[in-house]
Amino acid sequence: MALHSRVALVTGASRGIGRAIAARLAREGAAVVVNYRSSRTQAETVVGEIQAAGGSALAIQADVGEPGAAAALVEEVERRLGALDILVNNAAIIHRGDLEALDPAALEQMWRVNVTGLAALSREAARLMKPRRWGRIINLASIAAHGTALPGTTFYAATKAAVIALTRRFAMELGPYGITVNAIAPGFILTDMVAAERTPEELQALLARMAERAMVRRIGRPEDIAAVAAFLAGEESGFLTAQTITVDGGRMDYIGHS
Ligand code: NAP
Repeated sequence: MALHSRVALVTGASRGIGRAIAARLAREGAAVVVNYRSSRTQAETVVGEIQAAGGSALAIQADVGEPGAAAALVEEVERRLGALDILVNNAAIIHRGDLEALDPAALEQMWRVNVTGLAALSREAARLMKPRRWGRIINLASIAAHGTALPGTTFYAATKAAVIALTRRFAMELGPYGITVNAIAPGFILTDMVAAERTPEELQALLARMAERAMVRRIGRPEDIAAVAAFLAGEESGFLTAQTITVDGGRMDYIGHS
């Protein structure tokens, strides 16, 4: 129970990677806030599963891309749980497209959720963490930011590159207060995000191709990411900050040597 008495907020925890992180942090003893935007039933299912396993969780709705949402969400966490020790900025969206298909409105929406929302939540969380001289902020980046060769992720990659840059800057600003800030850059993990807008046949072909391109010859599971998040959330990672940890099974399809 490494996270006993810690309060954690995981954004976008109704499914996928966020759900696995919420379950894992709860298993380690944290009281977990399962944030979601619209998937209320799924979020309540996650809460129910955590409670059934003996953990503590509650669901709070908030669209992290909306102005003012971060402050309201963190205030509600403080009101209901009294503190916030661990923030996992997991919620994100993807609009696929390349330069030819540039859609400024889609890019702006991704930016609002993936970057502005993450920054606003980090500020609000830090406000509660600073007086306690302890905190963990964990941001979900992506290996797309490093320059993977998967087509259609051009502008999404730009938002995730911003996440990596902000991780380093926030770490520098918050380090003196005992708050570490790190990012995880997942490779290809099977979730709704990668399944969306693809036929079952397209998805199967993509899964096979991605497994082939990983050194460990498989695609990732949300639990692979949750294990790293649990380490970053804990006491033992206190001297680790400003880092982006790539968790991709050794992907080998980067631009430049694809
Ligand atoms: P996912 O399956 O699409 O799930 C996204 C989650 O975020 C859902 O719970 C969704 O809740 C929530 N969400 C979306 N927009 C939101 C908003 N504005 N406010 C609050 N919650 C919001 O995604 P995933 O694959 O688990 O990805 C999780 C993170 O890992 C993301 O940051 C993603 O960019 C990153 N990542 C994923 C992969 C991958 O291969 N899957 C690879 C690299 C990085 P609702 O259903 O309620 O909208």
